[in-house]
Amino acid sequence: MADQSRRKLKIATVVYWVLLIYIVAALVWWTIMLLEQADTIYTIRKENLLLIRNELSETAYLNHLKLLHTEWQRSIYKYVGEGVTILLLILVGAVYIYRLVRNEFRLQLQQQNFAMAVTHELKTPIAVSRLNLETLQKYALDEEKRQKLLQMTLTETLRLDDLINNILISSQLEVNHYTLHPEETDISALADNFCNQFQHRYPQRTLQRSIQPNVMMKADPVLMKLLLSNLLENAHKYSPSGGKICVEVVEKDGVQLTITDEGGGIPDDEKKNIFKKFYRIGNESIRRTQGTGLGLFISKKIVKDHGGSISVEANVPKGSKFVVHFPTAHGK
Ligand code: ADP
Repeated sequence: MADQSRRKLKIATVVYWVLLIYIVAALVWWTIMLLEQADTIYTIRKENLLLIRNELSETAYLNHLKLLHTEWQRSIYKYVGEGVTILLLILVGAVYIYRLVRNEFRLQLQQQNFAMAVTHELKTPIAVSRLNLETLQKYALDEEKRQKLLQMTLTETLRLDDLINNILISSQLEVNHYTLHPEETDISALADNFCNQFQHRYPQRTLQRSIQPNVMMKADPVLMKLLLSNLLENAHKYSPSGGKICVEVVEKDGVQLTITDEGGGIPDDEKKNIFKKFYRIGNESIRRTQGTGLGLFISKKIVKDHGGSISVEANVPKGSKFVVHFPTAHGK
């Protein structure tokens, strides 16, 4: 499917360039022809004037000659001016169409990747949960094994929940059907609770919290949880299991939320891309992590809808640091 799209894009690109080169060459050719024609007319008219020179006074002859020259000059300006204007219009149109078509193809390709990723991401947790439950039903396992299977099932179910939330909310946010339900929210408590859940889900992961108590702001708690979930899940997904993840909440010119990990980080030239819809770094065929490319797109939308901003920096000595800033805190 993806190969077919790439082939189509290649054919479209070749056709586009052939047509563009043909149109520009035709325009240049016509302009040269018109200029030559203007020259020929000017020469013929000058020769005709020479034939009747004896019948004219010197002043009349010179005036005629000047007139011919002015008309020739005007024709040259007209043809060159029109040629350049049309060339500019063609180039502007060509750049516009080129970008439009390329973006359309890129989006189509990303949507195909997204469809494949979603199918995979929906099926995996369901298959794992089903297998775990069947095992629990069939065998009388000891308590430790039972707990382990239940824990795995819970993790998969929560992942499924996140994925479905991301898909549902992204489609609602897209058509502006999602209505924000802002309420006075204790962001510190919300982050702390979420960290507890996260730690429960991934008991092996080192999660360091630096949460200033009682930081309040007007926010939609459902969306805030989704924001935290996307950023923390990414920190977990894109850093080795031994790496530390830090969550910080402080009141600093408003409210600042920072999530830091010790993973591979994000290359500088990708920093602006990762917030685009369906965007995932790297090539789908060599990518090892699962994902849909929706998490950061939604996160940015949530932050923007709350009047805030989100940015990514390099963590020292390694990894990524996502900083979310909301300009208004609401006192304690
Ligand atoms: P997904 O994780 O589903 O691919 P996201 O929108 O959450 O989609 O992230 C977009 C891309 O940004 C990811 O594919 C990944 O390449 C990169 N990314 C996001 N968070 C991190 C992180 N903490 N460390 C490294 N790369 C990240």
